[in-house]
Amino acid sequence: MKTSTSQLKKNEMSSNDLVESLIREELKSLKPYESARRLFSMSGSDDLDTIWLNANENPYSPEVSADPSLYNRYPDFQPEPLINAYASYAQVSTDQVLATRGADEGIELLIRTFCSAGQNILICPPTYGMYAISAETAGVNVLKVPLLEVDSGQTVTFKLDVSSVVEQANNAQIVFICSPNNPTGDIMDKDDLIAVLNATKEKSIVVADEAYIEFCSEATVVDLLSEYPNLVILRTLSKAFALAGLRCGFTLSSASIIDALKKVIAPYPIPAPVAQMATQALSNKGLAWMQTRVTELNNRRDAFIEEAQQWSFAQTVYPSKTNFVLIKLSKLSADFVMNTFIKKHILLRNQSKQLLLNDTIRVTIGSEAEMNAVIDVFTQLESTLD
Ligand SMILES: *Cc1c(COP(=O)(O)O)cnc(C)c1O
Repeated sequence: MKTSTSQLKKNEMSSNDLVESLIREELKSLKPYESARRLFSMSGSDDLDTIWLNANENPYSPEVSADPSLYNRYPDFQPEPLINAYASYAQVSTDQVLATRGADEGIELLIRTFCSAGQNILICPPTYGMYAISAETAGVNVLKVPLLEVDSGQTVTFKLDVSSVVEQANNAQIVFICSPNNPTGDIMDKDDLIAVLNATKEKSIVVADEAYIEFCSEATVVDLLSEYPNLVILRTLSKAFALAGLRCGFTLSSASIIDALKKVIAPYPIPAPVAQMATQALSNKGLAWMQTRVTELNNRRDAFIEEAQQWSFAQTVYPSKTNFVLIKLSKLSADFVMNTFIKKHILLRNQSKQLLLNDTIRVTIGSEAEMNAVIDVFTQLESTLD
């Protein structure tokens, strides 16, 4: 028997009431993270020619594949070949590595493991949005210590407000520091991070989010793990390794922190095909492929920055050590620029909602053809201003 439309409507209404009465109070006002893919979905797009430069993905795809004979079995909790490969790549021991469903799951696990509802995390905006979202969905408060703008006359960079971070960290279980920072693009001073680590050593965990570290591998703070038991490093295969679709990331820390996270993580966090493909990406051949692409993208980024500095509406082109570039606009609003690009089927990311970032847009570095298309549109915009 088919359910009638009116019956379905009635069910929907009572289900709404039920949600309204049972949902956790702190979730009522929460808006889901506006991920690049929720704003513009791939499968929902009827235009296959769309140029996707809004999610800091890699324009290239590595050749990895999985063996279908594995599908009927549960995967290992932490697949050994994968953990061995990542530990060797990151130069840490295997008990210092946890594989997760992307670095995003690492963020969530840290909060669920070390913060009770009503406790605090500390973030330094403008920064990656998921720290706050993961905290809020767990009823954890978010303390904000904004980055400091440093204007050299040539350009503007951002640095940690170390004394405020140290002061406020007294009330925080976890301090999140993103370096290189998304969406600003530059790294945080290592001495500043060390100052925070020293001041919080016995009190809080300091998380260094290194999602983009392959684009400036010399800037990693992995060498500090042996000295600071409160340091946690987040890594991912989504950016330089070009495997965002796999959902695979890593948390690096002391064995005791990793063991604590293992109490909270799902029983089978890494699907067997994902583990297989990720392990291939971390082989010598896979690493060489990644490094070649990184060099290529870094060169293209530097060329794009040089070009962008000549546009009169590009008030600030922020320095970048990543595969994206943040631009602060003058003369043109970010909404207008975004819409101009959308009409040309090019998706960029508007960052104007972030603290200190009015009228800024973030451009992911794509293929040569994609960047030529981007430069064409910007050049046309410039010609309208003469
Ligand atoms: C993309 C990104 C992540 C999330 O990476 P996934 O592994 O895809 O979950 C984490 N942190 C920052 C700063 C990012 O830009």
